[in-house]
Amino acid sequence: MNRRDFLWAAAAVAAAGKNAFAAPHAFLTRGVVLIPFDLTLPEWPERAAQAGLNTIGLHAGRRLDVLTRFVRSDEGQRFLAACKRLGLHVEYELHAMEDLLSREYIHKDKSMFRMDKNGRRTQEFNCCPSHPGALEIIAESALEFSRILRPTTHRYFYWPDDGREWCHCDKCREFSSSEQALLVENHILRTLRKHHDPEAAVSHIAYVPTLDPPKQVKPEPGVFLEFAPITRSYERPFAEQTAKTLIDRLEVLDANLEVFPRETSQALEYWLDNSRFSGWTRPAKKLPWNNAVFRADVQEYAKRGIRHVTSFACYIDADYVKLHGEPWAAITEYGRGLVQ
Ligand SMILES: [Zn+2]
Repeated sequence: MNRRDFLWAAAAVAAAGKNAFAAPHAFLTRGVVLIPFDLTLPEWPERAAQAGLNTIGLHAGRRLDVLTRFVRSDEGQRFLAACKRLGLHVEYELHAMEDLLSREYIHKDKSMFRMDKNGRRTQEFNCCPSHPGALEIIAESALEFSRILRPTTHRYFYWPDDGREWCHCDKCREFSSSEQALLVENHILRTLRKHHDPEAAVSHIAYVPTLDPPKQVKPEPGVFLEFAPITRSYERPFAEQTAKTLIDRLEVLDANLEVFPRETSQALEYWLDNSRFSGWTRPAKKLPWNNAVFRADVQEYAKRGIRHVTSFACYIDADYVKLHGEPWAAITEYGRGLVQ
């Protein structure tokens, strides 16, 4: 597709005011997750809509202010308006715990913070989820940020700190990382539903330390699973990666689907994540897009009753086009694969 055809098709999607490729059997969520700086790629929302996608998640590595500043900027407002015009949902997905419980509170009450393996309270990462005051502050912060970062889907993603440990205090020790995260997520959900959005749903991300399904803590209705297999290989289908030494396996997803409702569960994948393929270092490498692997993986998710699929697509931006040319084929094959 040349640029003129692309712009024509994008305009047609915009004119239709909704996603032109939506079909009854399509995944309900067909998304990409981008950092705001990826939006230098011209017409990212138009490209997403034209490929049949319906959701863009905005991501930040560990700081909420990057996103709040973006949505308040002219550029951010133009992005949100474009998504609205194209019928695209917008969400916000990020590691947030350090921001939700400001590390400043260590001067007020150390016991709100995580105890490390040596029995010392530390402000590094996450919190002590057995401390009611910590949960209150976290939920209150989530409420404040949710008034600025307003997902059009009612789905809120306030993840734990990236791949980090949880609390070893007497009260928390018996709980796994997944269970400790879920204590926080349940509390955020209750607060958001009571004070902000009665339809709020909150993500439980199963990702490295939180891959084990929670047993002793149950998800409140409205907490949904988000399975993010960051350590898997993209050179062959996920279903072939079964060795017990691998932490990301479909078997682990299946165990989580015994705890969380299937119909609201989401796969957060990395098929298009060029930041991951580039080792999170610029300049970006050429995206090793593999449509056959993607298609096989999508079938595995569909077979399990998963209806929500999204992929990071970071570092596919204006610089990428200069270095490696148009990424259009990969975006299109990805979008079409989620529609069919
Ligand atoms: Zn604790």
